[in-house]
Amino acid sequence: MTAHLAPVVRDALLPTTHSWLEKPPLEPFIDGAFRAARSEDRIAVVDPGSGLTVTEFTAASAQDVEDAVSAARTAFDDGRWSELDPEIREEKLRRLADLLEADADTVTQLEALDTGKPLAEARLDIREAVAVLRYYAGWATKVEGSVIPAPRRFYATATREPIGVCAAITPWNYPLPILMYKLAPALACGNTFVAKPSEQTVLSTAYFAQLCAAAGIPDGVVNIVPGAGATGAALTSTPGIDKIAFTGSTRTGQAVMRAAADTLTKVTLELGGKSPQLVFADADLDAAIDGVMGGIWTNAGQVCIAGSRLIIDRRIHDDFVAELLNRTRQLTLGHGLASATTLGPLISSTQRDRVTSLLEQAATENADIQTASALPDADGFFVSPTVVTGVRPGHTIEREEVFGPVLSVLAFDGEDEALRLANSSAYGLASSVWSKDASRVHRVARRLQAGTVWVNTYGVFHPTLPFGGVKASGFGRELGSAAVDHYTELKTTVIDL
Ligand code: NAD
Repeated sequence: MTAHLAPVVRDALLPTTHSWLEKPPLEPFIDGAFRAARSEDRIAVVDPGSGLTVTEFTAASAQDVEDAVSAARTAFDDGRWSELDPEIREEKLRRLADLLEADADTVTQLEALDTGKPLAEARLDIREAVAVLRYYAGWATKVEGSVIPAPRRFYATATREPIGVCAAITPWNYPLPILMYKLAPALACGNTFVAKPSEQTVLSTAYFAQLCAAAGIPDGVVNIVPGAGATGAALTSTPGIDKIAFTGSTRTGQAVMRAAADTLTKVTLELGGKSPQLVFADADLDAAIDGVMGGIWTNAGQVCIAGSRLIIDRRIHDDFVAELLNRTRQLTLGHGLASATTLGPLISSTQRDRVTSLLEQAATENADIQTASALPDADGFFVSPTVVTGVRPGHTIEREEVFGPVLSVLAFDGEDEALRLANSSAYGLASSVWSKDASRVHRVARRLQAGTVWVNTYGVFHPTLPFGGVKASGFGRELGSAAVDHYTELKTTVIDL
């Protein structure tokens, strides 16, 4: 099938990206090969910047999912991966990272086309995916056990072993980095893997599957089943999986956890957020404005850690918001593949309509809505960056995750009220404190209910830094050494001396 591409896309694409898109391998990748999906369910690959259907694929059926799990099970049980010397696993994962890095320009373009995000952001995503792979490649040779001081008659050890078959279900906003948060530690620890990418962003994962084969990852170790919710539900109910790592909305996370109860499969859940940015009057306000903007306009607000609630000292509220709007007006809305674009479209018309309807509801609740820019003259799913002031606790826009370029502003009088507002959310993913007062920073950071607190910065991710949420934002940590615990099982061995 010839890809349908908007002129801006055709002009920007490298020949390598273009020719890959002419015949993208979007079939399930099972036991080292792409095979035709056994279902009638066709899904469109849509360019959010133009609304055009680029291509289509067939969703993996329950039977395809069973085959993928069975391939991963066999690959685990016969030890073709878990029983390799750790340095060989490390070498293959490093090779995979090298291949991804070598093709970064093409994968960046695919990611920008598929998600709608600006090229500069997509480039950072691919860089992060490479960095996470390299970081966990190093872990393959560093997972150690311990000798336990049991009674002297016994020699006792606790060693870490791979869990078995690990499954991943991922969202559309950071397709490749979020896949790597799961795949890289799973493989480094000797597990095998089945991934279901979001039906809205399958391109980079399909590209990655080809690289797995090229890097010499043995057949059956990595399997991919593209599809929508039905494919995900099939994956969570197929026996033979030992752990499911899910990233997505809180509602779907609940469904995943319910399904996992039937098979007693371990789960880790990275869910939604409504993260507060607390700005005190004693902060470096220039830096705080940039930090708040980065926290909410990045990826057009479609970020789990979006700093979507600005909680600000009433005394600086008006000037801060005015300057934030000034700077926001300088952003350029447009197609992700247009070089001038700094803010892209939303992922789909459904998502755009949801954001628009939340803004309409905010207006009915008497909040004050200020849009910062005119919409581009294009057919994509654009929403202008919007600042909503006059928001009070209990307003829909204050409670619900918007997942769009919408910043809600709440004013506070004093530290206690700031914390009360910040912690009133059902979510607890991320947060930030902007202040030059070291004592205040420690006091506030200690009391914030969130998996991450950033101080005088926002959105810092690194392979070494554990990431995850509390409350309705989920449980379990990805990245850092914390993920190694989630992808291994402790075995106690006791020898009678
Ligand atoms: P979503 O919950 O709609 O979908 C996530 C994934 O689950 C997709 O692959 C989808 O196909 C699959 N799915 C849907 N129904 C399923 C079912 N019944 N069983 C199994 N799988 C099913 O989320 P989304 O719209 O793709 O992503 C946006 C959400 O993800 C937001 O809520 C955002 O906050 C969250 N998110 C969280 C993090 C984090 O690390 N905490 C990161 C990114 C996104």
